[in-house]
Amino acid sequence: MKKLLILLLLSINTLPYTIAQQTNSSRFSKIVIDPGHGGDKPGAKGKRSLEKDINLAVSLKLGELINNHLPGVKVVFTRTKDVDVDLINRSRLANREKADLFISIHCNAAPNRTAYGTETFVMGLAKSQANIEAAKKENADILTEANYAENYDGFDPNSPESNIFFALYQNAYLEQSLSLADKMQKHYTANTKLYDRGVKQAPYLVLYKTSVPAVLTEIGFISNEREEKYLNTEKGQYEIAASIFQAIFNYKNRIEGKRIATPSISELIPQKVIREEQERIKREEEERRIKEEQDRIAFEKQKEIEAQQQGKEAKEKDSIETEEETNGVVYRVQVFVDKAKLSKEDSRLKDLEDVWMYKDDKMWKYTTGNYNNFNQANEYRISLKDKGYKDAFVVIFHKNKRISLERAKELEKNNN
Ligand SMILES: [Zn+2]
Repeated sequence: MKKLLILLLLSINTLPYTIAQQTNSSRFSKIVIDPGHGGDKPGAKGKRSLEKDINLAVSLKLGELINNHLPGVKVVFTRTKDVDVDLINRSRLANREKADLFISIHCNAAPNRTAYGTETFVMGLAKSQANIEAAKKENADILTEANYAENYDGFDPNSPESNIFFALYQNAYLEQSLSLADKMQKHYTANTKLYDRGVKQAPYLVLYKTSVPAVLTEIGFISNEREEKYLNTEKGQYEIAASIFQAIFNYKNRIEGKRIATPSISELIPQKVIREEQERIKREEEERRIKEEQDRIAFEKQKEIEAQQQGKEAKEKDSIETEEETNGVVYRVQVFVDKAKLSKEDSRLKDLEDVWMYKDDKMWKYTTGNYNNFNQANEYRISLKDKGYKDAFVVIFHKNKRISLERAKELEKNNN
């Protein structure tokens, strides 16, 4: 009795596999991987990358994982280079090869640049406007295909009723396709930080003409800056590829009625990639630290320069005020002005007697001679003409402040 029950349970358990057995042999032996877009059809555009390139990079990594970890499964690509392939030919390849699975890999994009996450589609009528729009965008590639109306049974991707066109469509592989899609979403969530937008149905033409179990997966938003960055890293691409691989591995187990343990993500991602990612993070941290240190040093230095400047100006002010503080009127001869404060040993000053400088309107003015009357100072001025100071003139100071000749006369009258 007990034995019978176990047998019964076992047969129930194997029920889903028989569906696959009707259409394929119970061995899962071939997969067609379809990197979306290519060539002059770039797909969605990010800030720094194109969808077609990410799709291809992830697809090739998925192929590599299958070759390394599922040696009995043959991988066929719809493209391995940056070339355009008509959607109809991608479907035809899967059908001709009698593949056990067809996986089309794409990146999402949305006008709202904060949209994020992964989603996987199976062929069917879209239940929401958003899903119709998503399919429309991917389907637009057929507009440049020759005979597209014929190839897609008169379908017009620009028609507002394009979704209704598929009302009579019967998805012979819906159950299997949904099962794989569901596994893919689960593994994305387990292996990456990407949000799970779920499994959906929409009329994707590349799935429409594919008569084997087929899914179209959107591995993240290229229009979202953070996700675009992630999708462009080796580690990110391997994490996505490994997630799809694990889903295929589970799916294959199910079809073949096996229970082989799924390789873990750390077994799948090459050690080199993990090491390089760790080094990249370390390098970025180090660069940030060095930059902060440089900024700090530059800031300190600037502060120091400003403090020195302030000290120097204060000192200069002091020296002007304290130097030769006198109550008398002093006559000197101004010889030139300069933006810079020259030292008294400067070659331009060394042949002059009693050099004295003062600051006026941001300029340093240089005088020579020290007389207590105008006539002596004026004689000295005339003598300086031979030395090349043709434009020299007499300047008069009282308490180190420049005054006019009239004021000097007044002061002298009062003193006498
Ligand atoms: Zn796409």
